[in-house]
Amino acid sequence: MTVNVSPESLPALVLNADYRPLSYYPLSLWSWQDAIKAVCLDRVNIVSEYDRVIHSPSFEMKLPSVVSLKSYVKPARHPAFTRFNVFLRDRFQCQYCGSREDLTFDHVIPRSLGGRTTWDNVVAACAPCNLKKGNKLPAQINMHPWQKPFHPTVHDLHNNGRAFPPNYLHESWMDYLYWDTELEP
Ligand SMILES: [Zn+2]
Repeated sequence: MTVNVSPESLPALVLNADYRPLSYYPLSLWSWQDAIKAVCLDRVNIVSEYDRVIHSPSFEMKLPSVVSLKSYVKPARHPAFTRFNVFLRDRFQCQYCGSREDLTFDHVIPRSLGGRTTWDNVVAACAPCNLKKGNKLPAQINMHPWQKPFHPTVHDLHNNGRAFPPNYLHESWMDYLYWDTELEP
């Protein structure tokens, strides 16, 4: 579940106006072209820079490595109910066996028995577990999700997202990221 970031593409970490990343997973990054465009449109402040300088006939500037939005974007209070967000809440793990492969969407109370497609009835499940559980209730087949499905807050999803750092993090980003894991140099 690692997001591939290419250091050669000199991406800029995008912070909200409160200096927190707009998103942890995937980490909010812009291409250097988009970062420059936002600087020219006066939408962001440059917080930190790469050594690399770009030149045009009319100006030259260092490429930004961290930018912050000038106006605060209010995060949604309640995250949208999407497949991705369900997987993120469940940390991309099957809630029955822990597998990270072949994830699907499982209705804990099957739809055929009136189960709804909502935060509190849907969990991540690998395809084999989903197949095995079929149209049965958890108690009928003794398959209970590890955690009771719940409606997460944005904070919950951010926290989980921090468990999935991308393959590359520039040193200038580190002051704004608080990863739980020890990172390779
Ligand atoms: Zn499974």
